[in-house]
Amino acid sequence: MTGLRWQLADEPRPQQTLFDEPIFERQPGRGEFRGLEFLHVRAQRIINEVKGAPFGFRYTVNPYRGCTHACTYCFARPSHTYLDLDADRDFERRIVVKVNAVSRLRAELDPRRWRGDLIAMGTNTDPYQRAEGKYRLTRGIVEVLIERANPFSILTKSTLVLRDLDLLVEAARRTTVRVNLSIGTLDEDVWRATEPGTPHPRRRVRAIEQLNEAGVPCGVLVAPVLPGLSDAPEQLEAVVEACVAAGARSISTVLLHLRPGVDAVFLDRLAETHPHLVADYRRRYRDRAYLPAAEQRAHEALVRDLARRHGVRAVERTDAEHMTGRPARPEQRVEVPRRRRTAHPEPTAVPAAQEDATQLSLL
Ligand code: SF4
Repeated sequence: MTGLRWQLADEPRPQQTLFDEPIFERQPGRGEFRGLEFLHVRAQRIINEVKGAPFGFRYTVNPYRGCTHACTYCFARPSHTYLDLDADRDFERRIVVKVNAVSRLRAELDPRRWRGDLIAMGTNTDPYQRAEGKYRLTRGIVEVLIERANPFSILTKSTLVLRDLDLLVEAARRTTVRVNLSIGTLDEDVWRATEPGTPHPRRRVRAIEQLNEAGVPCGVLVAPVLPGLSDAPEQLEAVVEACVAAGARSISTVLLHLRPGVDAVFLDRLAETHPHLVADYRRRYRDRAYLPAAEQRAHEALVRDLARRHGVRAVERTDAEHMTGRPARPEQRVEVPRRRRTAHPEPTAVPAAQEDATQLSLL
């Protein structure tokens, strides 16, 4: 048994205790989960209130802590250190599982106390990461939200979301549902170097298409865009073009935010894959987590122009951008009109570990 300290990365009240008990069980991953460790906890509550709604949503649910998708830039990494775990490999391999998430949610959505506000998922770690194939907590959460006809949104990098297509279709009939796939790049080298545990980005594009065709509104968050790695106009155009063709209902974009506690991991990994860029990143992010506003605006304008070039007409503000840690501005998001689909190239082969992470046969 291990003592537990905890704060949510998106939790504005650090004094709150989120779990009734310390980790009560440690389960080593077996078979397709070999190399992982699952740390079982019981959440004291599962709905997290984001005071002041700075992200455009007020309530979030995150059944897992840590994320096997292992994105080198992940802003949630420091949240693992509250557990006396590290933000590096522990974050990727030792996954905290709130095993009572579904029952807690059902209790907290009691209509005598709950007003039916939108609940956002994917605000801290990915609700469709590999652990979901084993624990099915996100599926249970979606089932409860359907029971209560409660509006919700999901942000994910995983095609595992398609496992729950039946539920999401039902949810879209009964309430307001929004899914966003996060696709920062289609560049194979950048993807392998920075998102080693995620599904191939072309598979995510196809997920956008499948969700929309099934009647589940789905957009794309082109984020984070990495300076010198994935911010070239032709790289961004490839993402925008593919996602518009897939019927994405919206396109949002954000440049990399490199907060303290994440920078060390990101730069260490960058030194292994793109050592020539390390000095430039150190210079750019030396004394700030965000790039200068002018640089961000220029990037957003570029994506907006690319979107228009590929048939997007209207621009409007919609729901928040989960990955950014800050509210979306109108110019960050474009709504995409429905248009004729085009075929997508097949994804190239991906390493077995990444296939393991995403195949529906995991379920
Ligand atoms: S998928 Fe999201 S939560 Fe998971 S490691 Fe990547 S950025 Fe972090």
